[in-house]
Amino acid sequence: MNKFEKQIYDVLVIGGGMAGTFAAIAAGEAGKKVLIVEKNQCLGGTSTSSMVSELMGVAFHGRKIYGGAVQRYFDTLESNGHAMYNYNVPMSSNPNVHIDRLRCNPEYAKIYLEKMALEANADILYDAVLVQAEESDDCIECVVKTAYTELTVQCSFLIDATGNASVACKMGLPTFKNDSKALQTSTLIIRLGNIEIEKLQETIKDKSIQKAVRKGFDSGILKGRILGFAPIPNTNDTTVNVVNTNIDHEDPYELTKGLIDTHQQVPSIIDFIRENVKGCEHAVLVSIGSTLGIRDARRLVGTYELTFDDLKNSAKFEDCAALGCYPLDIHDPVTNTVIWEEVKDLYQIPFRTMYCKESKRVIVTGRAVSASRDAFAAIRVMPSVMNLGEASGCLAAVLVEDHADLSDFNIEHVKELMKQRKMNVE
Ligand SMILES: Cc1cc2nc3c(=O)[nH]c(=O)nc-3n(C[C@H](O)[C@H](O)[C@H](O)COP(=O)(O)OP(=O)(O)OC[C@H]3O[C@@H](n4cnc5c(N)ncnc54)[C@H](O)[C@@H]3O)c2cc1C
Repeated sequence: MNKFEKQIYDVLVIGGGMAGTFAAIAAGEAGKKVLIVEKNQCLGGTSTSSMVSELMGVAFHGRKIYGGAVQRYFDTLESNGHAMYNYNVPMSSNPNVHIDRLRCNPEYAKIYLEKMALEANADILYDAVLVQAEESDDCIECVVKTAYTELTVQCSFLIDATGNASVACKMGLPTFKNDSKALQTSTLIIRLGNIEIEKLQETIKDKSIQKAVRKGFDSGILKGRILGFAPIPNTNDTTVNVVNTNIDHEDPYELTKGLIDTHQQVPSIIDFIRENVKGCEHAVLVSIGSTLGIRDARRLVGTYELTFDDLKNSAKFEDCAALGCYPLDIHDPVTNTVIWEEVKDLYQIPFRTMYCKESKRVIVTGRAVSASRDAFAAIRVMPSVMNLGEASGCLAAVLVEDHADLSDFNIEHVKELMKQRKMNVE
């Protein structure tokens, strides 16, 4: 068959970030024909292209909570020396909040995510964006564009893993985005080398980082009250979550302004870090995230909107898709502070946040599921987003298998598949 003719897939995943990759792995491992279409030239999305290298909330008070392909990924990175668990670490923006995390090397993340997707028999199309999607009773017809050509793809189910409900929005499904005063700050992450890692680890633990945060913010060098270091296992490097801007990422002019603004902040911030953070006296710039880290995103208005009360009360859902434990963490664009509110226990995210009554064939996953501003601020971290992705792949696989659609399907079959995959949703 001519590869430029229309391709037919059971499941088309748009966006190969953490959610999309695990959606494709789950559907592929269930024997479905899957394609991931990804705008960048690697998988991982924010995790790799923006170098967000700490997976927050992989465990809760020292107890690992994930299963399935997500935990397999953590284990693979760890056993190959490219990730390390760090428990009970204080946040630079609030030392009273402690989070269990997995620090990893974002470059190896690219390699292992791709390997896992290929081993699940998923096809990957890089450097391509979905530009058109039209749903009919029994399929979705899509147009995918690269810089050089245009391809048509037909699928039975489409998983919107764009991290921004962009496909749902394009298809006229109900979506929502906070206005600019409520949109969380965006951050450009940088990677520094030549770090005395042990000294830096002590600095992170002994809370002296807060003194530097205050000094940097009061002098205007830091644009937010945060200086988040994440040492990269088995290197002398660390990523730093520090270079901030407040923009609406959907406006191309604002996005470009935000990128220029953050790129230009980098030299003075590195000078500041060298002078004020123990262990970083001889730091050198290794790299700059190739994409700006966009924290806040457009979300689906789904059959159910998750609230922060659901999370605080550990609400139980019959159709639980994923677990989380990360607190509310809002990078407020007005005060440039980070607002925290902790949760007491694990919480659940139901499947109903991933679809809406207006579509039978579009599943939205990852951080763009239906959630209030406050609930979003908690569930947006990578482990829960990956868990949601894997769950969405299970849902799509069962819909294909059962010749069902989102208007009427058997949730017990989805739960059975999740159980077979050893996913933990209790
Ligand atoms: C600055 C910052 C710091 C953060 N810190 C942490 C942290 O320390 N720990 C943590 O766990 N989480 C953190 N997060 C949150 C977390 O990184 C993200 O919420 C999560 O990675 C989102 O994953 P996703 O797969 O839903 O979306 P994304 O990572 O946004 O992936 C979406 C993918 O879709 C692609 N795409 C979009 N549109 C199209 C299209 N039309 N066609 C094809 N492809 C498309 C994109 O290129 C991208 O690869 C942080 C986020 C930011 C921005």
